[in-house]
Amino acid sequence: MKIFTTKNALQQHLQQLRQQGSSIGYVATMGALHDGHLSLLAQAKQQADVTICSIFVNPTQFNDPADLERYPRPIAADTAKLERAECDILFNPPVGEMYAGNENWHLDIGPLEHLLEGEFRPGHYQGVTQVVFKLFDIIQPNLAFFGQKDYQQVMVIRKMVQLLNLPVKVIMCPILRETDGLAMSSRNIHLSTADHEHALVLWQALNRAKSYFEEGMPIAQIEEKAAAMISHEPGTQLEYFTLADGDTLEHAEPHSTSIVALVAARVGSTRLIDNVIIR
Ligand code: AMP
Repeated sequence: MKIFTTKNALQQHLQQLRQQGSSIGYVATMGALHDGHLSLLAQAKQQADVTICSIFVNPTQFNDPADLERYPRPIAADTAKLERAECDILFNPPVGEMYAGNENWHLDIGPLEHLLEGEFRPGHYQGVTQVVFKLFDIIQPNLAFFGQKDYQQVMVIRKMVQLLNLPVKVIMCPILRETDGLAMSSRNIHLSTADHEHALVLWQALNRAKSYFEEGMPIAQIEEKAAAMISHEPGTQLEYFTLADGDTLEHAEPHSTSIVALVAARVGSTRLIDNVIIR
């Protein structure tokens, strides 16, 4: 695996590969890699000639400085995992390589910006679009693989790609879970054994919501029951549980053609998100 920390060296290398006619499959991450990340890489390997993974903990998407500070950064272990997974290129730039001081950035992505995650993490999606735009601009991938785990993020990035007419195809990949159902996440290492047990209620509530929906229960009642289930679990603090339109993420209507149930909650001191596609 080739490792780059500067844009220039990476771009020179990618330029050569493009000239040879290779397609480029890209996986953007913040590191602390787990099997969920590696499943995106596996998809990329299947669909593109050359795979590139970036590890960059992007400061502009963190609205909580303490969260940024404690975000795990096990770069040696991550590099070894990518080597084993036969990733072709790792791009691991320092912050100064990506940002020249404070930069102005605002992209009007419409209501998606302030819904759900946007409401609880103000500014988050401006930081996400800012860094993903820069990374797409440097790498110019043909295909970019993102996880359904961050469902709203996929919608936001697709919106940006459409608005700016970027020549990249965004592919959404399924959520990888622990055997007990907990969605894999870099933040799970902050969960104590008890927190981990409590966190299972998220997946259980999402599944329950799916069954209720299939039984014909009204949407508002499903949300109420799922929220109550999570709120009753010790150590958890619910932020939202909602059934949303799978395209707009506005509140779902019974006739919405695609519906996704999304949840965010704090478990202990860790904020977790998860979702399930219901229709
Ligand atoms: P992150 O490092 O958390 O920014 O995640 C990098 C990419 O991996 C994003 O596209 C995530 O949606 C995706 N991802 C994170 N967790 C999972 C998971 N459990 N299963 C599949 N993809 C995931």
